[in-house]
Amino acid sequence: MADEVLIQVEKRYPGGGGVRGTLTIPLGGPSVTVVFGPSGAGKTTLLRCIAGLERPERGLIRFGAEVWLDTETGRWVPPQGRRVGFVFQDDVLFPHQTVRGNVAYGLRSMPRSERARRVAEILKLLELEALADRYPRTLSGGQRRRVALARALAPGPRLLLLDEPLAALDAPARQEIRRLIRQVLVRTGIPAVLVTHDRDEVLAMGDRMAVVLGGEIVQVGTVEEVWSRPASPAVARALGIENLWPGRVVGRDGDLVAVAVGDRQLRAVPSEDLQDARDVWVVVHPRDVVLEKGSWLAVEADARVSARNRLVGRVVGFVPEEHVLRVWLDCGFRLAAVITYQAREALDLREGDVVTAIVKAPAVRLIPHGAFEGTIPGREPSLA
Ligand code: ADP
Repeated sequence: MADEVLIQVEKRYPGGGGVRGTLTIPLGGPSVTVVFGPSGAGKTTLLRCIAGLERPERGLIRFGAEVWLDTETGRWVPPQGRRVGFVFQDDVLFPHQTVRGNVAYGLRSMPRSERARRVAEILKLLELEALADRYPRTLSGGQRRRVALARALAPGPRLLLLDEPLAALDAPARQEIRRLIRQVLVRTGIPAVLVTHDRDEVLAMGDRMAVVLGGEIVQVGTVEEVWSRPASPAVARALGIENLWPGRVVGRDGDLVAVAVGDRQLRAVPSEDLQDARDVWVVVHPRDVVLEKGSWLAVEADARVSARNRLVGRVVGFVPEEHVLRVWLDCGFRLAAVITYQAREALDLREGDVVTAIVKAPAVRLIPHGAFEGTIPGREPSLA
């Protein structure tokens, strides 16, 4: 397909590390593909292969119709021919250059007036105008990350590669940069690949994800697909499987937020980073779900609204775990609860039974995730 990046690589280091597998990245609009896995899994190696900083022993990398690597034919396009922007975790800014000078660095071949215009445009995009004449040592960690991003975006890359770009930042700065990165991607239309070992970052930033374990790309799909249908127990373990559903904030209820999941509504305590976000991931740990036998609908009238979250569902399966039992319910969406063997006996719980799942509002975690759909038509012209 022409409207995607195809990456098929096998890269092995002499010491045994490296990465192998296939990944595709959609082109033609903003999207974030997160490469997720534990430290040492091969994520950075994969990113470096895409950038052209590593040369795989075997592989094919195609950007649309353009072939960047084909070990069968010997074709190889060096990094500067790929027009890819990257931001690495330990990116160093030029200490003797101002913010403006750092951003202009990659634009030396441009005519002076065009360069000045371009730098101004990028500084605005990254909300750096007020810092343009400052030197890196006078900036906070978050501000330096923004400059690194601006420097990577200035030459108009066709793909942005981000390697743990938020790793060294404190929580408020991380939230701020997450918001800014997604905003910038929407405005420029540039697809991005982001490497992280942080699950929250996957949810906050990702549209699609690739799971890398032990040097292999083991699963690729939308965040929801991978989370709801992990390809193997190893993937499930790496994700630390929890209940995860796409939701939409539909209103406030005193101190609580009402969020629609399918045709149900849940109440949640708003997190600090929720602000006025509409599209969210709703996360509930299975250990925070209490099961009652029968349907509470029999005694109360309205299933859709309750300050105490009660979801009626049917038991569809049991999965034994160490000391506890995972119970899968169908509530219109899949919901997992973890209970003890004693609880199962006391409730005499069987497959097909109708149960009410109860979740306290503070146990419903909302992670904002700005949807790209619908924002694209109105976006500002591409900077690329
Ligand atoms: P991750 O980004 O997932 O933490 P990396 O891609 O950095 O993992 O590394 C994957 C494996 O390859 C590790 O075992 C690492 O030690 C090894 N490795 C990475 N870079 C090199 C290199 N330049 N030479 C030899 N081994 C390397």
